[in-house]
Amino acid sequence: MASMTGRDVAAANGGDGTLVDWMARFGTEEACEEELLRRMFPEGFRCPSCGHARCARVRGRARKWQCTRCSRQFSVTAGTAMRGTKLPLVKWFLAAYLMTHSKRGVSAIELARHLGVSERTAGYVLLRLRGAMARSESVQAA
Ligand SMILES: [Zn+2]
Repeated sequence: MASMTGRDVAAANGGDGTLVDWMARFGTEEACEEELLRRMFPEGFRCPSCGHARCARVRGRARKWQCTRCSRQFSVTAGTAMRGTKLPLVKWFLAAYLMTHSKRGVSAIELARHLGVSERTAGYVLLRLRGAMARSESVQAA
């Protein structure tokens, strides 16, 4: 498969690709964390240290989860475009939605306005997301 549109991705996940559907599914930080967890472990969580199949949020630590048996901790943003940033996950997810749902792409100025961030931050988000999308497309094409 060469590439998928945002609508294809949403449909594959059982959604209808509309912004309303997106809001219902990814409108909170918690929902975004759970989605990242699903992408990190598409077959279901399996602890890399002990093989346990259950994990839970680390209380008071955003984006940190841990194995409920051995307490090994991990960040749901590790290895993603969102790694190491303080920008809320909802804004990252919305940026990805806007990028994949506009035919001509979204500019840093537009994105800054939609997300309520500086143009500089919006430019950084676009750069990171484009890199991540290019990488996943090359994996799909391989
Ligand atoms: Zn474990």
